[in-house]
Amino acid sequence: MSIPEVNLVFDEPVQRKKVPKHLADYSPEERREVAKALGLPAFRATQVATHYFSHLADDPQTWSDIPAEMRQSIADQLTPKLIELVRSVTCDNGMTRKDLWKLHDGTLVESVLMRYTDRVTVCISSQAGCGMGCPFCATGQAGLTRNLSAGEITEQIVAAARVCANGELPGGPARLSNIVFMGMGEPLANYNAVVRTLHNIIDPAPDGLGISARSVTVSTVGLVNGIEKLTEEGLAVTLAVSLHTPDDELRDTLVPINSRWKIKEVLAAADAYEKRTGRRYSIEYAMIRDINDQSWRSDLLGRLLKNRNAHVNLIPLNPTPGSKWTASRREDEAEFVRILEGYGVPVTVRDTRGREIDGACGQLAAAEKTRTD
Ligand code: SAH
Ligand code: SF4
Repeated sequence: MSIPEVNLVFDEPVQRKKVPKHLADYSPEERREVAKALGLPAFRATQVATHYFSHLADDPQTWSDIPAEMRQSIADQLTPKLIELVRSVTCDNGMTRKDLWKLHDGTLVESVLMRYTDRVTVCISSQAGCGMGCPFCATGQAGLTRNLSAGEITEQIVAAARVCANGELPGGPARLSNIVFMGMGEPLANYNAVVRTLHNIIDPAPDGLGISARSVTVSTVGLVNGIEKLTEEGLAVTLAVSLHTPDDELRDTLVPINSRWKIKEVLAAADAYEKRTGRRYSIEYAMIRDINDQSWRSDLLGRLLKNRNAHVNLIPLNPTPGSKWTASRREDEAEFVRILEGYGVPVTVRDTRGREIDGACGQLAAAEKTRTD
């Protein structure tokens, strides 16, 4: 299998230039500079950020602290609409909702909102498509279309927060509590936009949504230089590493980027992340029948993880259309869990929330069942 081209440019290729700039693309200081460059007093940036992140108010006519005649033009310049809802599909009695978004250039991405008894989680996309080429993943099959801007990623989250606040999910108004970067794309291959988004999520009002870092999960295929860079940020977000097998031989084919960074290096980077942030990390493991679900692999995984501060999430494979692979048998899954537990490794099997509305993107059902912290 050929090694996929890895876009490790920590800034941005050509297409981003065409995406309209949004307040969410900038740091709070830059926002004030941008306001000044538009001929506005700097405090207008803070007012608009408050409307955007705290009030989730997308109608500028409600921005009563800004003169009426200025509202629309300020909104056009600082909070242009970057994502347009194409359609929503729901299941689980409306508790799971998948939204399909069209970006300004017609590119389509998805996000999934899931309400549980104790929390509401949104699963967002960081890229349109993905260049990593994992053969079991629907997004990987299509290749990378482009990176999303921080504004485009943040808009998915703010839209989800609005749906919750407006009481659009059954059960009445709620607060968006968890964010997982497990939709389309490899977050660490779009590093700067993802880190800007993390700040937008974590920063307290008026600069961001004020959601705790520990409620945010960044899932990576294992880009070691990206994990190292994220470690330096010192943000206590949860790291999830998509391992899928404990041996390099199989991982070279399931996760082609393994030809560049081997399992040992990926786990060492995750350990360093854990050491710096104090956060236990997750190991994602898609259970593929007769491919990676044998007892000996569970045994090897147990030995690999027994002295690490890691938690295993087993995800029953959601077969992509035409795939020769399918999910593991229940008994094999149970045996896999039993062996891991024998090593004292915490393990959960994810539920398959939203599976029936997962047609277009084979991975968005990868929703956590159990909190990983
Ligand atoms: N690119 C990142 C994040 C997006 S994928 C990553 O790979 O981690 C989110 C999770 O869904 C990953 O663990 C990925 O391996 C898993 N996944 C992808 N396709 C899947 C499928 N068909 N069935 C089950 N899980 C899948
Ligand atoms: Fe990309 Fe993740 Fe899919 Fe692999 S599993 S192709 S890294 S989105």
